[in-house]
Amino acid sequence: MPKLILVFLGPPGVGKGTQAAKLAADLHLPHISTGDLFRDHLKRKTELGRKAEGYMNEGKLVPDDLVVDLVMDRIGSADCAKGFILDGFPRTVPQDTALEKKLDLRGDKVVAAMYFDAPREVIVERISGRRTCKACGAMSHAKFAPTKQEGVCDTCGGETYQRADDDASKVTERLKEYDNKTGPLVPHYREKGILHEFDARGGVDEIFEQLKAEIEGLKA
Ligand code: AMP
Repeated sequence: MPKLILVFLGPPGVGKGTQAAKLAADLHLPHISTGDLFRDHLKRKTELGRKAEGYMNEGKLVPDDLVVDLVMDRIGSADCAKGFILDGFPRTVPQDTALEKKLDLRGDKVVAAMYFDAPREVIVERISGRRTCKACGAMSHAKFAPTKQEGVCDTCGGETYQRADDDASKVTERLKEYDNKTGPLVPHYREKGILHEFDARGGVDEIFEQLKAEIEGLKA
């Protein structure tokens, strides 16, 4: 059984981050979300954060070289030795090429690309209600998965907020970037024979069961 190196792919707001976090906890693998890594750099006001901020605020992708360096550094950590889950990376074909080269040097490869998709109106509704905890990053949804007390995280009691780029005015740009730059990864992974498709309209638990079944299939 090769190392479980998984890519989670799909439009912003489709729910792939929720599934990636659940699977990472279940399999005891690191969950590497490039969006979270960038937000952390922004918060800490690092040089990388400063370089990425403008792109992120406009709903555009950060240039490939900045993202690739960040991820290559992260997957070199000891905790990634047994496998890892990439959430929101690669988002362009050149990012995938860089990843493939790096993994190849270690005798590793991506074993599956888990692709989540849903109709646009579902995605827009999911994004616009999405709330994130400032302290622990836990996600909730104002309509579908509200916190017990509005604005207060159920997990840690921290304050929840709406990400600036989840604002309706930014969502159109993010979806455009997705269609133009990330969409081509779908046929790319299909050709490689590693694409696993999920209808993301279902509930979180239902989709997670399907995801687990696919993982079992990989192990078989
Ligand atoms: P996310 O939380 O995955 O929606 O990412 C938030 C923002 O971070 C994106 O809109 C991009 O500006 C940036 N970002 C995250 N991952 C990548 C990536 N792989 N390539 C380029 N930009 C990225």
